[in-house]
Amino acid sequence: MSASLSPAPLTHLSDEESLFRTSVRDFAERTIRPRVAEMDRDARLAPEVLRGLFEMGLMGIEVPTELGGAGASFFTTVLAVEEISRVDPAVGVLVDVQNTVVMSALLKHANDDQRRRFLPRLATERPGSFCLSESGSGSDAFALACRAHPVDGGFRLEGRKMWVTNAREAGTFVIFANVNPEAGYKGITAFVVEREAPGLTVGKAEDKLGIRASSTCELLLDGCFVAHEQVLGEVGRGYKIAIELLNEGRIGIGAQLVGLARGALEQALAYALTREQFGRPIATNQGMQFWLAELAVDVETARLTVYNAARLREAGQPFVKEAAIAKYHASQVAERVASRALEVFGGAGFTKDYPAEKLFRDAKIGKIYEGTSFMQLQTIAKLILGE
Ligand SMILES: Cc1cc2nc3c(=O)[nH]c(=O)nc-3n(C[C@H](O)[C@H](O)[C@H](O)COP(=O)(O)OP(=O)(O)OC[C@H]3O[C@@H](n4cnc5c(N)ncnc54)[C@H](O)[C@@H]3O)c2cc1C
Repeated sequence: MSASLSPAPLTHLSDEESLFRTSVRDFAERTIRPRVAEMDRDARLAPEVLRGLFEMGLMGIEVPTELGGAGASFFTTVLAVEEISRVDPAVGVLVDVQNTVVMSALLKHANDDQRRRFLPRLATERPGSFCLSESGSGSDAFALACRAHPVDGGFRLEGRKMWVTNAREAGTFVIFANVNPEAGYKGITAFVVEREAPGLTVGKAEDKLGIRASSTCELLLDGCFVAHEQVLGEVGRGYKIAIELLNEGRIGIGAQLVGLARGALEQALAYALTREQFGRPIATNQGMQFWLAELAVDVETARLTVYNAARLREAGQPFVKEAAIAKYHASQVAERVASRALEVFGGAGFTKDYPAEKLFRDAKIGKIYEGTSFMQLQTIAKLILGE
């Protein structure tokens, strides 16, 4: 086979991807980096960061340009989430949920009218949220209790959603509710609802351990009317939409965790080269070198699993097992790298004077959202046993 027909290495980027990555990196360094500590302390996203994300086209990466988006690819989204998370995983998750879950839901399932009505605002003005989880239904997501009561012209939503990422900033919500609980999960339906809808209230924000600048709120639905035109896809097919989106969304979370691990490793390397003990930089000790080398192995393997899943998804090939592996592995790597990176800083790592402490806190969520680690293992086991 000639060299030109050989598949490219997974980490090889096209010129376009490479340029895009550089511009996102510059933006993250220039606009996000100076605000990371303050946003973490205040548990608030800086308005300049959100504005910049929209201006850079990062809130509608796959949305066609005529609808206000950047018209780019899924892999490009993965690169963006990784680069932003290298600087701040809290901003990374905002971009991830927006693109791989909310936008993806609309791009795949909205009809033409819905695309014209919802996508431009989402891509250029206000982010969106994905509302599946409730207090009683997390891993068992389809046990949701939120109801959509059929009424003249549409439905009335009743219930309470939890853990809604981006809810404080969001202008549009993709909400899952059951139109017919007797049909079990086959009654679950997805609705697109605007923030201004009467009966929809964004509740309190959680006070979290990590990714504090990312808002996570309750959503209260008190007889909120939604017209038939706001049903996304078909009535009773919401469970399929949710499964599909979460399978894909996991790749984005994997990218967030790879970015986090890279950020932590870079900080640790720089510190190890400059901090001196016993009259020489701590990086000159072989024990420290091996430790740092192991972290580099971790980052590389996590990145390869994430890129592989993303490239498979983009090529239209099966990717569910690979996505679960990527998210599972990247979440372990992020926790390990962030933890060791903190130790490289010694006592300084335990303070808020250095970024290691924040990345350590941020890493924990990787094993929990968009399916806990056990849920990823369940998916992987089901698929390998069926193979
Ligand atoms: C910061 C944050 C942001 C989030 N953002 C969103 C969002 O935007 N939209 C949204 O819909 N949801 C969101 N979530 C919800 C998230 O997806 C759930 O928290 C997650 O799926 C776990 O559900 P749970 O919290 O109810 O835990 P549970 O499901 O109660 O799990 C508790 C423990 O039991 C284990 N467990 C459960 N079932 C089994 C089993 N069968 N076998 C073995 N172990 C099991 C789990 O692995 C876990 O360790 C978010 C959560 C957080 C913390």
